[in-house]
Amino acid sequence: TAGQAEAWRALCPSPAQMLGFDCDAPLPAAGELLQRRQRHFARPQKNYYRQPPQIERGWKEHLFDVEGRAYLDMVNNVTIVGHGHPRLSAAVGRQWSLLNTNSRFHYASVAEFSERLAGLAPEGLDTVFLVNSGSEANDLAIRLAWAYSGARHMLSLLEAYHGWTVASDAVSTSIADNPQALTTRPDWVHAVISPNTYRGAFRGEGSTVDYVRAVSEKLEELDQRREGLAGFICEAVYGNAGGIPLPPGYLQAVYATVRARGGVCIADEVQVGYGRLGHHFWGFEEQRVVPDIITVAKGMGNGHPLGAVITRREIAEALEKEGYFFSSAGGSPVSSVVGLTVLDILHDEALQENARTVGDHLKVRLQALGERFPMVGAVHGMGLYLGVEFVRDRETLEPATQETAAICDRLLELGVIMQPTGDHLNVLKIKPPLCLSRESADFFAEMLERVLDDGW
Ligand code: PLP
Repeated sequence: TAGQAEAWRALCPSPAQMLGFDCDAPLPAAGELLQRRQRHFARPQKNYYRQPPQIERGWKEHLFDVEGRAYLDMVNNVTIVGHGHPRLSAAVGRQWSLLNTNSRFHYASVAEFSERLAGLAPEGLDTVFLVNSGSEANDLAIRLAWAYSGARHMLSLLEAYHGWTVASDAVSTSIADNPQALTTRPDWVHAVISPNTYRGAFRGEGSTVDYVRAVSEKLEELDQRREGLAGFICEAVYGNAGGIPLPPGYLQAVYATVRARGGVCIADEVQVGYGRLGHHFWGFEEQRVVPDIITVAKGMGNGHPLGAVITRREIAEALEKEGYFFSSAGGSPVSSVVGLTVLDILHDEALQENARTVGDHLKVRLQALGERFPMVGAVHGMGLYLGVEFVRDRETLEPATQETAAICDRLLELGVIMQPTGDHLNVLKIKPPLCLSRESADFFAEMLERVLDDGW
């Protein structure tokens, strides 16, 4: 791996080459900075590294720490076009120098970006709200559902994550992210069992009927209480557990049931949209449905705070009639230029295509590990959104939680950044920049094999 790190470093231009000036300012020592971070930075997620590497810069799918170590970034679902992209730095620098202001003003890049997003959405979804994050986008989508339906009750999937702001947090019931999620849910949120075909209540692809019945039963409870339905929010693949595809036909049936009761269907594309699944630009295309509202964020800004809600004009107008929407920085000229440049890079570098070919290749390599190591219970997902689920027993599916944490620590030592995820923290969720090369995918598979071979 030392040789590999050397090769990555050789590819990465120096700060002086990238910026046209030298930015090698002296940095505080890693240990000292960690102490300062622990003293002043709010507590990070539970499953964060105990000793996070102090990253100094990045290039494509590689990260470099202050001590000169190189890492392969396999978890970064935000930086989709890769780290240190020169086209983004140039475009942002130019726009910052010209103007950045709030979105109240009429500005070319804002109109152009809204138009591009509407053009990427299915026909009829032609109205775009620009915000700063996925949580905000989902909060706004729920407000739109309330305004349009005139009802308040929302359906979401158990163990999903949709954000941390008040409404998006309410529809998130991921126990790993928030252990209180099941007890503190407000009374307008109704969580139905997740259609997890691997370890859910019903197994296998034939489980669609049972999972759809679970939704109908929830709705019947609402009918009995004479409560109206505002909408349904979910991701088009079961994201929290590493991208398990929903059973075939699930969303078609659920969308029809929800719409029959006057509710609107929200597709949370924050993780799975923008080509990550490789085969389609949007995740919901996998299920052959068209949502009423799409929410998107994360990769669309490549790490810059940017999110959007895309919907039909009549739904947007319902909010205009009875509510208010204004976001100071959402879709600012700089944010819109970032959004436009990310779309250009995705297109010009054929990154969705790369997600498909490299993702398919990596999945085959990971599945081969499943033949050697019984602990690899399953390899989920598609494109560059894969999940390796570790179990102690393939029959009982007992989650290998401690083992997964140890594997991640060992991978870090070998130069791979990876985190445990899922409600049992027993899944390696693989979501690298979409520019991941085939060589890097092979490196990851080899390092994982080495860890599994050596023990941890
Ligand atoms: N929706 C999904 C599916 C997510 O994974 C996340 C973040 O992890 C969000 C929404 C919230 O996005 P943000 O962190 O930008 O607020």
